[in-house]
Amino acid sequence: MSENKKAEKITGVKGMNDLLPTDSPLWELFENTAQSVLQSYGFQKIVTPIIEDTALFKRAIGAVTDIVEKEMYSFTDAMNGDQLTLRPEGTAGVVRAVIEHNLVYEGPKRLWYKGPMFRHERPQRGRYRQFFQIGAEAVGFAGPDIDAELIMLCRRLWDDLGLEGIRLELNSIGDAAERQRHRADLITYFEANAELLDAEATRRLHQNPLRILDTKNPAMQDLVNKAPKLLDYLEAESIAHFEGVKRILDHNNIPYTVNPRLVRGLDYYNRTVFEWVTDALGAQGTVCAGGRYDPLIASFGGKPTPAVGFAMGIERLVELMKMAGEPALPAQCDVYMVHQGEAAQMQAFVLAERIRDAGLDVVLHCAAASGAGSFKSQMKKADGSGAAFAVIIGDDEIANHVAIVKSMRGAEDDSQQSTVPFDEVVDYVVDQIVGDHDHDHGHDHVHYHH
Ligand code: ATP
Ligand code: MG
Repeated sequence: MSENKKAEKITGVKGMNDLLPTDSPLWELFENTAQSVLQSYGFQKIVTPIIEDTALFKRAIGAVTDIVEKEMYSFTDAMNGDQLTLRPEGTAGVVRAVIEHNLVYEGPKRLWYKGPMFRHERPQRGRYRQFFQIGAEAVGFAGPDIDAELIMLCRRLWDDLGLEGIRLELNSIGDAAERQRHRADLITYFEANAELLDAEATRRLHQNPLRILDTKNPAMQDLVNKAPKLLDYLEAESIAHFEGVKRILDHNNIPYTVNPRLVRGLDYYNRTVFEWVTDALGAQGTVCAGGRYDPLIASFGGKPTPAVGFAMGIERLVELMKMAGEPALPAQCDVYMVHQGEAAQMQAFVLAERIRDAGLDVVLHCAAASGAGSFKSQMKKADGSGAAFAVIIGDDEIANHVAIVKSMRGAEDDSQQSTVPFDEVVDYVVDQIVGDHDHDHGHDHVHYHH
């Protein structure tokens, strides 16, 4: 590259976001809260690869769906010709892993996952090409009890996050035979009103007419509202299952509305389907969607195993958290080490390690491109870090074997500072921080059982 030619900037891929340090504490708060709620119901974490065989998604999601028709990032592995896809959702991979590792051999399993998903959609608020989901899959459970439990778990998460105005929509889509009878009547109904269908609906009419009910086209709302309702086609067993879910929700005071138009377009979904919806996010108002998929595992050659799950969109939920106000987020550190001169720097390193040993978070000032920085500029950094204390060491302190420990939380002029011998600095700041107020930084050591 010639000296005066500026290097060309490379930007991120459209629709794929960076999570910046300003937002990451909020994400972490969301993820930690979700994880602890999942654990409080006995769910266990599973991690599957981001890439799977394209065939897995085609079969699990179904050929006539938005995802498989037009949203998948599929490619041929240049090394060996394998047909691969960046996962557009989490259920398919989890189900594959459950079968591959015979995970339900000893009985049902409650599983959860989180991670990035990829769909080639038109990017807009709440809709990205890489987005993150946290999901749960309860595998091997047949009854309405687990359906209700999954829903109540979500409810608890919204409560723990302090999110209001997320409402539950519930429906049952019955089984394949019930849907078949409904489908026949639905096609007849739409054919009789063919002039009211838009192009997409016309195309789907004979492939996946159920999906037409999901249309967002305002001109078709009246038509789909008057269409035959799948709920009216359910028979005894499906009705009993649905009533069972509702009974548990009612008993636990979980409000919901039955939305007969709520369908999951996916081929293998059956019985319970639900969505958690908010009005606060504009058009992208669904923050969590779930349902039962009893036939899926057998369709993959596994032993017939009922299952039910949900997935929530993290971006949309974090946006709701932002709208709810500023949650108290942790400071970058407890202690900021300010130092000047080589001897002071050496002492600062030693003290920083000892304060970390005591379980506190320490940022040690390090040189920037502009140099090590004056006391004044280091103190500014200390202030910006949110640290409770600055520990300051210069030539005078080295000569006297002491550090200045300055409280950063008081008002500018009456903020306290003490001169503390090196040997006592650790105890001093630990006492002040842990003794003073609720301390939320200290990390316990991980204990391993051998
Ligand atoms: P939509 O009808 O909005 O396209 P969907 O049925 O495709 O939703 P699911 O596959 O059920 O969505 O995914 C579950 C949740 O994941 C959604 O409710 C949403 O919160 C989130 N989600 C789905 N697609 C995206 C995306 N492209 N960007 C951000 N979040 C998404
Ligand atoms: Mg979608």
